[in-house]
Formats: sequence, structure tokens, C-alpha cells
Amino acid sequence: MKFSQAFIPTLKETPSDADTISLKLMLRAGLVRKLSSGIYEWLPLGLRVLKNVEQIIREEMAQIGGQELLLPAILPKELWEETGRWNLYGKELCRLKDRSGREFCLGPTHEEIITDIVRKDVRSYKQLPLMLYQFQTKFRDEIRPRFGVMRAKEFYMKDAYSFHATEEDAGNYYKIVYGAYSKICERCGFKFRIVEATTGAIGGSFSDEFMVMADTGEEEIVSCVCGYGANVEKAECVRDSSELKVVAVGLPSHDVAVLEEIHTPNLKTVDEVGKFLNEKPEKFIKTIIYLADGKPIMTLVRGDCEINEEKLKGFLKCDELILADAQTVEKITDATVGFAGPVHFRLPTSDFRLIADFSVENITNGVSGANKKDYHLKNINIGRDYKPTEIADIRKIKRGALCPRCKKHELKFSCGIEVGHTFKLGTKYSKAMNATFLDEKGRQNFFIMGCYGIGVSRIVAAAIEQSNDESGIIWNESIAPYKAIIIPISYEGKVKDVSDEIYEKLSQKYDVLLDDRDERAGVKFKDADLLGIPVRITVSEKTLKENKVEIKYRNKNSVNLLAIEKVLDNFF
Ligand code: ATP
Ligand code: MG
Repeated sequence: MKFSQAFIPTLKETPSDADTISLKLMLRAGLVRKLSSGIYEWLPLGLRVLKNVEQIIREEMAQIGGQELLLPAILPKELWEETGRWNLYGKELCRLKDRSGREFCLGPTHEEIITDIVRKDVRSYKQLPLMLYQFQTKFRDEIRPRFGVMRAKEFYMKDAYSFHATEEDAGNYYKIVYGAYSKICERCGFKFRIVEATTGAIGGSFSDEFMVMADTGEEEIVSCVCGYGANVEKAECVRDSSELKVVAVGLPSHDVAVLEEIHTPNLKTVDEVGKFLNEKPEKFIKTIIYLADGKPIMTLVRGDCEINEEKLKGFLKCDELILADAQTVEKITDATVGFAGPVHFRLPTSDFRLIADFSVENITNGVSGANKKDYHLKNINIGRDYKPTEIADIRKIKRGALCPRCKKHELKFSCGIEVGHTFKLGTKYSKAMNATFLDEKGRQNFFIMGCYGIGVSRIVAAAIEQSNDESGIIWNESIAPYKAIIIPISYEGKVKDVSDEIYEKLSQKYDVLLDDRDERAGVKFKDADLLGIPVRITVSEKTLKENKVEIKYRNKNSVNLLAIEKVLDNFF
């Protein structure tokens, strides 16, 4: 492509509303434009990168037996009702009606649709396993679209779904997809880590996230030298973890004191009451009431810790977990919100669950709400004053925590960008949608499923986020929009002839850009750096005297001279 003909609208100024380096550079290099919040246009240069990423993914899917299809983006409500997700997916689901009032959504993910196809057309175990995938625009009405194409309302995803006759086969195949996803990340040139994750709105029993490491990443992950890695949402806490020992809260059992009610007018938070009583947060038993699928439950966590709602949801195996409304809290605690505690509350049901996090079990003479307006209790002791129905790991992991696997090392906290997510779904969708096949004995079984998403558009931004400098983008050769850019110092005479010749020859092998514009060399160099093209070939009268051109790799500082006839040799 000749630069003078190319539609590459670069910007000199850094767009002020761009909230990440990748978005700034995508706008400046003319890869994308913003149409509306979370909605972006892909311009030719950006699309080239997107397509390169797509191609890498397609090749790796072919390697593991994936078959590509294309599903509709507009999906009928009825299928989503079969799994209950029409309601559960909540506000992120973009809903619409046709002229006759029939309801649809714009697909955020396609488990229901693929399961419907397979239940109609796959009858026998002989047709299994089956791996189907697509590249498609997805729609999610994200609560806070941000970071450009990384968290958009409309984005491009590869979603894959596999169907198996047995758990064993599904488990083995999961590992194969894991391998393919790792290869995709490697081929894109990523420094990445694979971590255990929560399954969220997709569901299923287990999932892994593929994280591109970047300080600016939205996801916080923990990892250990022993190999354990998890998203903080998922990270397990060890029962007696080091971070709990910061303060030795527990006293010998003979030191337990008499329960005491204290007047704490208008003091509600751990902070407020802590200051008033001169007690550390570690002494507090924070009490939070939730509605789990509509049923009230009470949870307890140490004052300096937080409940991890994703973990709690997993523990309860519920679909919906929300903070209890004021009315429910008042009914259970006999007080306005802010005075709940585990001692003397009103049991709303006989099977009421009082779930204590591991962090509270060693608190001796603890403090909590008194279930009475403007009162707290001091010297609360587990066993004597309250008995949890369950003690479990339901808190958010904190710095200083021990690795839950090896239990030897402290976990390391870092940030990443989630580019891929693989799920073991089991029979979640096949059961809900009655999708069955006949096994070799003629018995009807539910398909065992897996699903595997990778954010193609997010990968483009993640690549920039991980690899850039003050001059611009530094593309990995595998996904670069052009492999090389030829820069004639001035596009005339012999310099032009040699530039054209190199361009013609290289174009047979690579996608290359020839900067034929009537611009100063400095401007051309600046643009080449901004666009991040891996190889820059500069043609000048000076080096032509020796029949040479200048080669510079974008990711290196050094400049080399190369004989013209060698330019066609492999660069990569
Ligand atoms: P997140 O936790 O970031 O919201 P998710 O768990 O909702 O992601 P999945 O449903 O697993 O995402 O989707 C698969 C992949 O699609 C993600 O790994 C990510 O790369 C991409 N993706 C998800 N949401 C968006 C979005 N709003 N914009 C761009 N890419 C996205
Ligand atoms: Mg999401």
C-alpha cells in the first residue's frame, strides 16, 4: 500500500478523553474512531490488525478440530427463557422488540443458540465430540464502558462451544483448548498468565482466564512461585492465613469476657464504632445480610476484611445474590441498617443460614452490632454467644495472604487484561434445554459442554497496552498491520526507483507500506514509529552510494545498513 493512498488518519494531539495508553495510540494512529460511548469504528489499519489476530485464532482452532459457523446476532427471547438467563443476565443484555412486539436480544454470548442447534441435529454419541466456533460482534450494555475497545458495548469475539459424551472427554478436551489458547497468546507475542477464575453469568463449574500482564490491566490477579494463579475474585483464602495474623486477635479461651451492650448513637461503620470504642477493625465481626435467590442469609467477616460476593455466590450455589433491602434488615435485626450482629437476632426461617468466614473464627471478645438501634455488643465469642451454621472461605483475598496451594509462600499481586476465558460448563445448558444424545447403550444422556471465549478486539488493545513507548505502538510482527514500511527520504530520482523496486519485491511476500508522501523525513519517521510497523527500511542517496539501505526494527534502537539485494531475505 502506498501511504499517499492509504486511509490512515493520524492525529497529532493526544485525545483528551482517552483513558488508557492503548486507546490514545489507537486513536492517534488512526486504527479506530469513537462513534459513541463503548462503540467504535474500525478503520482500515485497525481492521488489518483485527484480521491478523482473527487469522491466528482461526488457525489454532483448526488445529484442535474446531469447525467455524456463524450464528445470528439477534436472538429470540424464548431460547433465553429456557435457561432463565433472559432475566438473570440483567441490564447488560441489550433487548429489543420487532414491529409485532416479539422480544429479542442482541447476543452477548451464544450458549443457548448453539445448544439449540446441537439438540436438533446431533442424535448419537458417534457424532461426538463436536467443537463449533464463530467470530462475531457481541453486544453487552456494560455498566461503565471504558478503555476503548477493551470494555466496549459492541465488540468482536471468537466464541467456541464443545459437546462431549463423557465428563472425561470434556475434561481432556478442556486441556486441549487451554493449550490452543496459550498458543494464541504466544503467537500474539504476549507476556501472559493463566489464572483460575469465577464463572459469572456464563456459569458452569470451573473456568480459567488468560491474562495479558499489564500494570494498567483492569483485573487483579494473585500468583505464587509454586504455579498457582487466580483472579482475586476467585482466589482462595487459607484458613489460618498469614494476613490474619497481623494482629493476634485470639486470646486464650479463659480470657473471654462478659458480653456487654454499649450505646453507640448514630455510629454504624467499623471505623466509626472502632474509634469510639478504641478497638481495632480486627476485633470486629462485620455482619452483612444478603438475599440469595430471594432468601435472607447472614454473613460474618472480620472488620478489616470484605465479603467476596462471587465466592459467596459459588458457596451458596445461588443464581442471584443481592444486599438485603432495609426492610428485610429491620425485620431480622429489629434496628435500622448498621446495627446487625450475630447475637440475638430474629430468625426469619428455621433453616436460616448464618455463614461465618474463616476470618472470624479466632476473634475473641469481638465487637458487632447488637441488633438494636444505636447499640453494639462487646466481648462477643463464637460458640458461647453465637453459632454459625457454616464456616467457610467467603472473603476477599488481601495482600500478605499465603498461597492456598503450597501454603508456603506469600501470594504476589499483579494486574492483567483478561483476553480469553474458558469454561467447563458440564450439563448446565444441556439440562436446562433438554439437549440429549443416545450413548452406545441406547441411553439418553445430556451433552457435557465446554465454552471458550476470546476477545479479538480486546486483544488488539491489550497488545498495544503491553507494547508501546513514548513514540507509539510497537507491534509484534505476527499481528502488525504492515510488516515493513519503506521510507524514501525524498520520493524522487534514484531513491524513488530503488524504493519502488523494494516495494514491488517485498509486496510479493509481505504486506508493506511505502511512504511516498511529499513530507519531510522527520514526519515520515514519526508516523512510522507511531504506527508501530516492525521494520523500517530507509532509502537515501547517501546509503545508495554503497548500494545499501538502512534497516531499523521498531523494537530495537540500533540501525543497520543492508545491501539492496539482501532486503528480500527474511526479516523475521
Ligand atoms: P469481563 O470480566 O472482562 O467482563 P467476561 O468474563 O464478561 O469478561 P466472557 O463472557 O468470558 O467475558 O467473554 C469472553 C471474552 O470476551 C473476554 O475474555 C474478553 O476478552 C472479551 N470481552 C468480554 N466483555 C468485553 C467487552 N465489554 N468489550 C470487549 N471485549 C470483551
Ligand atoms: Mg463481563
